[in-house]
Amino acid sequence: MAKYTPMIEQYLKIKDANKDAFLFFRLGDFYELFFDDALKAAKVLEITLTQRDAGGEKIPMCGVPFHSAENYIKTLIDKGYKVAICEQVEDPQASKGVVKREVVQIVTPGTIMEGNMLDEAQNNFIASITAYTDYYVIAYIDLSTGECFVSSINSFKDVLSELYNRPVKEVVIPSNFSKEDEQSTVAYLNVTISYQDTFDIPEEFHYLIDDLNDSKLAEAFGRLFQYIYHSQKRFLTHLQQVEYVPVEQYMKLDLYSKRNLELMESIRDQSQKGTLLSVLDQTTTAMGARRLKKWLDRPLLSKATIDKRHDQVQTFLDYFFERGELREYLKQVYDLERLAGRVSYGNVNARDLLQLKKSLGAVPHLKQVLSQFDSDLITQLLGDIDVYRDIYDLLDQSIHDEPPISITEGDIIIDGYDSKLDEYREASRNGKAWVAQLEAKERENTGIKSLKVGFNKVFGYYIEVTKANLPQVDLDRFERKQTLANAERFITPELKEKERLILEAKDKSVALEYELFVGIREQMKQYIPLLQKLAEQVSEIDVLVSFANVSEENNYVKPTLNENYTLDVQEGRHPVVEQVMQEEFVPNNFKMKSDTSILLITGPNMAGKSTYMRQLGLMAVMAQIGCFIPATQAELPVFDQIFTRIGAADDLVSGQSTFMVEMLEAQHAVSHATENSLILFDEIGRGTSTYDGMALAQSIVEHLHDQVGAKTLFATHYHELTSLEESLEQLQNVHVEVVEQDGEVVFLHHIKPGKADKSYGVHVAKLADLPNEIIERAHYLLETYESTQSIKDEYVKEQQLTLFKEQSEAPATKEVEVAKTLRDLNLLNMTPMDAMNKLYEL
Ligand code: ADP
Repeated sequence: MAKYTPMIEQYLKIKDANKDAFLFFRLGDFYELFFDDALKAAKVLEITLTQRDAGGEKIPMCGVPFHSAENYIKTLIDKGYKVAICEQVEDPQASKGVVKREVVQIVTPGTIMEGNMLDEAQNNFIASITAYTDYYVIAYIDLSTGECFVSSINSFKDVLSELYNRPVKEVVIPSNFSKEDEQSTVAYLNVTISYQDTFDIPEEFHYLIDDLNDSKLAEAFGRLFQYIYHSQKRFLTHLQQVEYVPVEQYMKLDLYSKRNLELMESIRDQSQKGTLLSVLDQTTTAMGARRLKKWLDRPLLSKATIDKRHDQVQTFLDYFFERGELREYLKQVYDLERLAGRVSYGNVNARDLLQLKKSLGAVPHLKQVLSQFDSDLITQLLGDIDVYRDIYDLLDQSIHDEPPISITEGDIIIDGYDSKLDEYREASRNGKAWVAQLEAKERENTGIKSLKVGFNKVFGYYIEVTKANLPQVDLDRFERKQTLANAERFITPELKEKERLILEAKDKSVALEYELFVGIREQMKQYIPLLQKLAEQVSEIDVLVSFANVSEENNYVKPTLNENYTLDVQEGRHPVVEQVMQEEFVPNNFKMKSDTSILLITGPNMAGKSTYMRQLGLMAVMAQIGCFIPATQAELPVFDQIFTRIGAADDLVSGQSTFMVEMLEAQHAVSHATENSLILFDEIGRGTSTYDGMALAQSIVEHLHDQVGAKTLFATHYHELTSLEESLEQLQNVHVEVVEQDGEVVFLHHIKPGKADKSYGVHVAKLADLPNEIIERAHYLLETYESTQSIKDEYVKEQQLTLFKEQSEAPATKEVEVAKTLRDLNLLNMTPMDAMNKLYEL
């Protein structure tokens, strides 16, 4: 083995302990990467790959400048990698041999804190999954805001649904975690995986888990905590008490439904365009934007809480003017949660504190506007604000109005905050005035009008005299300091002494400012919980105000929730489609009494079936997060879960066939739905051959009808299923209206009672100019099918499968078969009686 230089040996040792991260190895003004890290990073970061002599052998190397490292780190993190930052931890001048180096932080996708690496409208969660015998516990933390959560969950599938949309960037699991589950975690959630096997929580952090009354929950949280504790190596004092999220208290939306309904992410390109979120988000603060996402992800089940939100939105709607004012003040509130997080991390600068001050400055105004509402529901939204006054005053009396980014170069603290600082400043300011006087004095002494007193960083204070005037200078008093092309610079003992005083005062005041700033920052730490509370209150107001605004702009109506399973929506619209359409969106009613559980929807392609179905799903979500909904009047039950199987959302991720996914989804819904659930099934059975598909579709409908009783919208192109209406009491047929006008098929997108006329497919074909011959033949076949395949309900119910088999033998095939049998008969070997019998049989 080649012997490397001591520094490379040191590198290898540190790298060995950080195998899964790019090691950024500090070397002077650069972070260097070596060996495989260098080869890989050079590609990913598109930087030059060089070599370095490592003691007889050349090794690959690349590097990024220390001052611009953040962007490179961001690129790596965005791609899901981790970066270990290794710094020189002793003064290179003072050290003998290799400078001591240590990893001071491991930056990972789930643990980034730096402002420009984070999307402010989104949480950045890191989660852990721990499997127990028959359930799982997930814990997740947003390190930037300090929020900590745990939930216990029954199935792994539900774990994925819970974590999807959080959004989670990194998942921490034990090293003995099921490989299969690990793979699906990566595939479905697109996250970085990290391993952690210990889960004890240091004594000083025990308060975080005070509210958890189950050791398994604490354990799962501990795993995540350990990981963060070791990778971050910093203060974690901003972490909030772990909150147990009882998933059963929220509407359950599996991963497919979240995707299919495009709540926050579009199916096509995973952007926010065309999502419900994009329509609803009129929040003005970063905290509000994040809260809205949380609400969207967890519609409520408690009717009382939902009603309360609706009432709050209604009140905000009623107070148009005040609402406008609130929005203006909300705009002045910065991201308090993340500011609090950075206070804890110790990386706020004076500008951050100024943002904090401005935010707090808006609070009394918010309170004042809220007090104008004649409603407890609103006035209670911002609790006790007087406490924020202390923080505001502290910052107002200490931090300059336009501070620099750097906290080590002064100009941060205002006059009057600290008497010592004032003294230093006085000295330095006096000094400057004195210097101005000196200039006048020396001009007079020497008679040189152009004599100047100046200052530069290298030489300090000087008196400058042009070459032409040099003879007038008294060289006993003036000591030469620097020679320029046409001037000389001098210093005098008097100036030297003053210079010392001024510079000392300056140095001292800068150092003291830093000290004072750090002191203020430390003092701020005690206010972290207060700021977090304020952030919560502000974000709630922000979202409710946003709901009111959206509802007003789009003419939404306040829904009434009931507990008697009735659904009655007048002129409902699709909240997203109506926004993007050029033409008028056609409103539709939904009417399902308590004794109707299934609407069987028929109608040609493109008529508007899936739009109608999604519309109901979206309205249910909107209603249960507390927003109003696009309709003129609406009464809805509180749905406990929504299941969807809609359209072409092929399962690209797991690579399963459309049909398999369809069946898995159906299975999931059938086995988990209750009579309080909403099921949206679009074209179930389409993925397989006609009769298979139809048989499955029918048996699923029957099962849902007889066993489940969930409100179900079932769109199908199997017209045969419409006859189920006669036998299934709780099933109703509806269809999308289509008319023919001047030989053209017009989609009216209008839902009507009863079944669809099925010949439209053929009409559409005609429109598409298919040859007449084909159209006529299709008409003929259609009629034949209709006459031979009218399904008798009782028969269907009992013997569907045999029936389908018989149907599959179309008339044409029968004729061919008879002809073939006749041709194959060996007449010479048959008696007349045999022939008679055969004929009879045929
Ligand atoms: P289907 O599921 O029956 O094939 P879709 O629901 O996908 O039909 O709708 C087809 C198109 O018709 C959509 O792209 C949409 O633009 C339009 N559409 C659907 N419903 C309506 C409506 N109520 N009003 C106006 N246009 C609609």
